[in-house]
Amino acid sequence: MTAMGSGDWDRLFGGGEPLPPRIVLPGALAESIRAAARSAYPDEGCGLLVGQGERVTRVVPSRNVALRGRDRFEVDPRVRLDLMKALRGTPERLLGHWHSHPDAPAVPSATDLAQAYEPALLWLICGVSGTGEAALSAWKMVPEAGAFTPVPLVVEDVTRG
Ligand SMILES: [Zn+2]
Repeated sequence: MTAMGSGDWDRLFGGGEPLPPRIVLPGALAESIRAAARSAYPDEGCGLLVGQGERVTRVVPSRNVALRGRDRFEVDPRVRLDLMKALRGTPERLLGHWHSHPDAPAVPSATDLAQAYEPALLWLICGVSGTGEAALSAWKMVPEAGAFTPVPLVVEDVTRG
């Protein structure tokens, strides 16, 4: 589909830096992801995760531009491009993205595996039900294994900020 190798992609988008062994997600940001997942329901919601070191510092909202939003997600490329420009020369970086699984567990699907061509990015998945329950989990792609592996996710207490 594309002639761009992953190395080219990394140079363009500043990825390539390996993910830290665990991810710390402030409670307020976890809540904002859960809220966005609930509001997108029954479609999949999605967005980008900005971080510094192991810590997620910001969640950048995006429309789900996938044609089949009910069971697919695609972050708006414009949002990503604008973000990459804004992050250039700052200590923050694009850490990864999140998307929701309406009425499905927070584990990567076969579709996710087929879309996982950027091993440097974190995959945060929010399983959301019609009653508003929302579970978060974090994953990364291991290209050699052709599979996702869980990344320890520390969700901080909202009160601790
Ligand atoms: Zn998925």
